[in-house]
Amino acid sequence: MPVSLLRPEVIEELELKKHGYEVTRLTNSFYPDLNGEFLLLTDDEDHNRQQIGKFSETDYQSIKAFDEIVDKVGAIISSQWLKEPPRLSGGGLADLLSSVKLGMDFYGLDDDTRFRLVQFFVGAPDSIIERWFDSAKVKAMIASHILPANYASLQQPGASLAMLHHAVGEIDGRKGAWGLVKGGMGAITQAMARSATAKGVVIRTQAPVAKILVEEGAASGVRLESGEEISARIIAANTDPKRTFLKLLGEEHLPEAFAADIGVFRQESASLRMNLALSGLPQFACIPGEGVGAHHRGSIMMIESKNHVEEAYRSARAGIPADPPIIDALIPSAMDDTLTDEPGTHVMSLLCKYMPYDLAEGKSWDTEKEKVVQSIIGYLTKFIPNLPDILVAHQCLTPLDLERMFGMTRGDICHGRLEPDQMFSTRPHPDAAQYATPVKGLYLCGSGAHPGGGVTGAPGRNAAKRILKDKAKFI
Ligand SMILES: Cc1cc2nc3c(=O)[nH]c(=O)nc-3n(C[C@H](O)[C@H](O)[C@H](O)COP(=O)(O)OP(=O)(O)OC[C@H]3O[C@@H](n4cnc5c(N)ncnc54)[C@H](O)[C@@H]3O)c2cc1C
Repeated sequence: MPVSLLRPEVIEELELKKHGYEVTRLTNSFYPDLNGEFLLLTDDEDHNRQQIGKFSETDYQSIKAFDEIVDKVGAIISSQWLKEPPRLSGGGLADLLSSVKLGMDFYGLDDDTRFRLVQFFVGAPDSIIERWFDSAKVKAMIASHILPANYASLQQPGASLAMLHHAVGEIDGRKGAWGLVKGGMGAITQAMARSATAKGVVIRTQAPVAKILVEEGAASGVRLESGEEISARIIAANTDPKRTFLKLLGEEHLPEAFAADIGVFRQESASLRMNLALSGLPQFACIPGEGVGAHHRGSIMMIESKNHVEEAYRSARAGIPADPPIIDALIPSAMDDTLTDEPGTHVMSLLCKYMPYDLAEGKSWDTEKEKVVQSIIGYLTKFIPNLPDILVAHQCLTPLDLERMFGMTRGDICHGRLEPDQMFSTRPHPDAAQYATPVKGLYLCGSGAHPGGGVTGAPGRNAAKRILKDKAKFI
């Protein structure tokens, strides 16, 4: 699992590097398919021109031009990430000023970039792909960029925003780059925990909250599942919107219309996670060879074609796990030897997309899981023929498991779809988009609030600033 979206301001302010955060930039991306064809992109432009040239005479230049647009449009988006979104109602002077500032950023763009921005916001990915690219292989590659967090057809207006959301990150100042965190993604929260503890924060884990307590319309504390009650006038919740408002708080404490809107907030990303423990290196049929190669040291996207997305999406909407799924994989041990105990052993993670939460015919993930695992391993073996020989163990987390283990409602890894009506001043609702909620003292600080999902640190930072501004109200 790679990092990119974590804001540099958060890394700096929390002194995460001092507390053990270390990241290596992922320079390579590998797109194999079952025809035995592949694209392997690296840091070397001549190599990339040759790779893309296998499929098209024009796509190399098109990718350059497209990346430039993504950079320009992405800069506008990322400049908003650490700002509280203006109130939709335009409530006060601060809202007016931030709306004007946003408008100026928008009108500061040249005409073409403005047009592209609108396309990315409300257009369908397919129109963008067809406008820019020529070969089926490159179209499949760009189509795969919609996947990490979303659950949409390429024909769906508004689905392109997810593509942009994942392109606006950076690693050590390099825009759009992704990186591998030494020790795994958990090392980020470990560094955050050390930073917070050094400032006197007390952290308790294994203490699930059963209820957010309310007295006279204001938050008054939480009751843990153990029955213990903790009083607090300010509560910041990074649980997702449906869980926070409808389960932990309860609609009886909310305005009726607000609760009804949260009830239809779309949460589902159709993601299934597999982790593989391997006694040796996966050898890809399309790039034979013994040792760790450039293709092992990067993101690996198994997607057959643009149409593969459409078929997988249609299947998932019908309640049938996509077969084959689209797989976003990583072999982090090829770059970080602290992840396994013995040299030559590896771990591989797979994010398998278009795996619906609700299965057709009332089937349950608990009984279907093993069948799906076997079909994923079967598909993977077509790319990696030595997989059966090196597979020591696997872990599979279905959307239902993600919900049970991490409290992510309907297994949505981003706490809510990244679609235009669920973003910015309306995420998750106009009356909670500035982190304060209709219940005094209860704040949102997770991915269900602006700017949305991924390991960004942004909603937490923005919420903290809002709480500091509001603090006087609680004294
Ligand atoms: C399989 C998978 C792969 C991903 N890949 C990437 C990636 O490559 N890059 C990336 O940037 N992002 C990735 N993401 C998304 C990213 O991890 C999330 O968007 C991000 O963690 C959201 O952060 P958050 O703080 O908002 O919420 P969470 O990380 O979901 O934190 C919410 C916390 O609340 C806890 N909780 C829930 N209910 C209760 C309760 N009742 N009481 C107490 N605590 C509770 C949960 O246990 C959890 O610790 C991935 C997510 C998953 C699941």
